[in-house]
Order: sequence, then C-alpha cells, then structure tokens
Amino acid sequence: MFQDVVGQEQIVTALKNAIAQGRLSHAYLFSGPRGTGKTSVAKIIAKAVNCLELTEGEPCNKCSSCLDINQGNFMDVVEIDAASNRGIDEIRELREKVRIMPAQGNKKVYIIDEVHMLTTEAFNALLKTLEEPPESVIFILATTELQKIPATIVSRCQTYQFRRITLTEISKRQEQVATAIGIQISPDALALIARRSNGGLRDALSILDQIYSYQGLVINKEHVLDVLGLVDDVFMAELVDALQANDTGKLIRLINTALEQGKETGQIARESVVYLRELLLYIVLGEKAEAISAYQIPRDVLEHQKEKAQTATLLQALRRMMDTADRLRFSEGNRFQLELGLLEVAQILGEVKSSIQSPVQIGSEPELDTNEARKNNSRKKEAREGLWKQILFKVKERRIPTHALLSQGNLLGIRENTVLIGYKKAYKFHKERMEEPANREILETVIKEILQQDMQIKFIFMEDEQYNDIVVKKAIEIFGEEVIELKD
Ligand SMILES: [Zn+2]
Repeated sequence: MFQDVVGQEQIVTALKNAIAQGRLSHAYLFSGPRGTGKTSVAKIIAKAVNCLELTEGEPCNKCSSCLDINQGNFMDVVEIDAASNRGIDEIRELREKVRIMPAQGNKKVYIIDEVHMLTTEAFNALLKTLEEPPESVIFILATTELQKIPATIVSRCQTYQFRRITLTEISKRQEQVATAIGIQISPDALALIARRSNGGLRDALSILDQIYSYQGLVINKEHVLDVLGLVDDVFMAELVDALQANDTGKLIRLINTALEQGKETGQIARESVVYLRELLLYIVLGEKAEAISAYQIPRDVLEHQKEKAQTATLLQALRRMMDTADRLRFSEGNRFQLELGLLEVAQILGEVKSSIQSPVQIGSEPELDTNEARKNNSRKKEAREGLWKQILFKVKERRIPTHALLSQGNLLGIRENTVLIGYKKAYKFHKERMEEPANREILETVIKEILQQDMQIKFIFMEDEQYNDIVVKKAIEIFGEEVIELKD
C-alpha cells in the first residue's frame, strides 16, 4: 500500500491524488537507485486501478483483485524484466497483445523493469505502442539509469525520480520490521546494516532477514559483522594507518590476522575501497560526509589520517584498490593479489618513495606453491569455479540466506553421483545449517537443474590453512586421482 512506501512522499501523494481523481497518465517512467521502491509503487498503482474497494486512491489489499496481484496471479498485470531475453520477446509481442481488452480487471498494467536494458529494436516497438496508447492500458517503466532511456520514450511518459532513502529512514523501517517479528536488534547493528545497504531499503531488509535466519531473535553489531563477513571499523582504521606509514610488516600481520579470523581476501579489498572512499569524502566534505558514510570511524582517527593524506594520491590509491577488488572477484582466496594491491597502495600513500618491491618478496612460500599448482590444474580449476559460480548464482536467486551459507564453502569436485562441498572448520555453523533439509533441498534442486541428473551432496570439513591447495588434495584423498570429473 502507498502508506508503506518509505521516503517518496511527494511521488506517493501525487499518484494517490491522480488515482483518486481518475486522471492517471497512460505511461509512467520511474527512475532512481536500486531499492528505492520503484517496482513496489508500480505494483500499488496496478492494484489501485483494479481494486474493488479503493479508498481515496489507496488500494484495499484485501479484495480478490488485490490479492491476485500480490500473488502474481492477476492476468491483466504483466511484469516484464527487460534485462532478460524473454523480456525482449515480450516487448515484441506487446504491440498485438496490448489491443486486447483486460480479461479480469479494469485496466491492463504493464510493468517493465530495468527498461534501459532493452535493445534498440525493442525500444522502437515500445515507442510505437506508447505513441498510440490504448485506453485501458497503463505502462510503468522502471530504471536505475535514466540517461540510457531514449528521449523519444521519456517524452511520452510522466517521469518521477525516486530519491535515495536516508540512513535514518532505513533504520526506522528496519526497526519496525524487526519489532513486528519480535527481533531485538541493537541501534549500532541497525545503523551498520543501513550504512551497508547503500540507500536501498530492500537490500537492508534482506540483510536483516539473512542475519535473523542465522542469529535468531537477538542481534547485535558483532553478529552483523560476522554474518556479512565484514571487517570491523577498528581493523580498517589500523590497516589504513599501516598503509599511510608504508609499514609493510604491520600490513602483512594485519592481513594474517584477518584471514585467520575467516575473512575473505575479496572482502578485505572491498572494505579497503570503502574506507579509502570514506577518508576521501571526509577530506572533501568534512563533517557532512557523516550522512553518507558506511563506517562509524571516530572523528579523531579521521582527522589524524586526513593530515597524512593528499587528495591526489588518495584517488590514485583508491583506483589501485578498486582494481585489486575487481581481480579478487575472479580469484577469491588469492592472498597474493591482496598483498600486492595493499603494498602498492602503501607505496602510493606512504612517504617512502622507493620502487615497488618485487612480487617474489611478498607473501610466504605456500602462496607461490599454490600459484604453481594453480597453473598445472588451471583447466579443471576453471571448470570447477565456473560451475560453482553457476550454482551460487542459482541458489541466490532462490533464497539469499541459503546462498550466504553456501558461499562460505567451496565446490571440491563431482564424481559419479556425488557432489562434494568443503567448509573451513571456522564455518562449522554454516556447514551444519546447509545440511538441514530446507537448505539442502534448494541446493539439490539447483544442482539437478544444472547437471540434469539427481546428485547426492556431501558436506565435509577442510583444514584452514592453504585452503585453495587443500581443495584439490582433499578431493584426491576422497575420490582418488580422477578428481573433479565435470559433466557437461
Ligand atoms: Zn483491493
């Protein structure tokens, strides 16, 4: 319902009035960041124009039309995801279908999400429909990238720009949801989730759901850090101190500690990006940066780091760190990449301008061995990683908390009818949760979908050190030499 929409008061009022007065436009274009309520509002409009008990522009959410729309069973409300191939086909068919009168309700409503993803051909088809709109149809287009929508389309639509929701609004709504479920959550945990959701309410709520599903009814800041695999503020402040001092020894020690605590290399790199951005914002905006800050870094720490930083070098460091985070996206667990990235950043930020150390001196031997092993095994490893990514992606589509549990493990291999998934000992909790029927079934379904056959799934523990290397060794131990026999 409109009353549940957070942070878009002006848009909601305008739309409610238009509905109440029966003067809705035939085409709307909603733009704005992810999770600001664009598709939610689109669905509320769809309900309002078909509701049997409309009150002052607000749908009742109880009549048969409202209920059918909520469940996605209403024939006259069509949602199209322009990012999918099917979406483009659907737009092609639209021109004919749109002339057919509504089957079930008053108005047909087409909601086209991610509309900027349409091909030129599909945009043209859409434009022709928008040029001669049938009476009984409303189009609602939603996009995160308004600048990619052709002007010809924009000019045919009434446009509304959804604003980013403030941290306070997100925290407040989260608190309401938590209270309704009976969750006790500390204010600093709420603030941390809000800061990490990047202005998206849906993301914030799904993070809350994820933490609740691990943690139960009492949630504090440490739980949030744990579940999200985040590195805490104090650690990051220390890491940046070490970077600014170009203190190699301290850097390596800090990386060791974080990895021992089960943090992932990619996460540390991404956190470093976030922190350096924070510092940059603080230098540029001062106290005003607080409102858009992802961390709660004490003012004196920021002041101290600001004194040692220059905007130009900070920008350069930030770019280098983003690059590292990007690389680690495709080789998670590659400690060497992380160390190299951080040491280069230390060179950039630190006062000592000696030439960058040769890579061989960085890191300990096992990583180099791992590199060698990786080359030898690279083909199989690539195949395995590709399959693992596919599995994770599909599990995520089905259920985010299951994905969060699964993503702490790793695919070891497949032999005959068994898929073997390993967890570090530190992730005992995740392994046990994955073994529960509800989570296991999701994984089984996804694997069956990908491999086109029923598979058994085994979850096992792995040694903590040299995780990447051990994946292969452990699989050999269990399966024999013919590890990781992938079926196409
Ligand atoms: Zn209704």
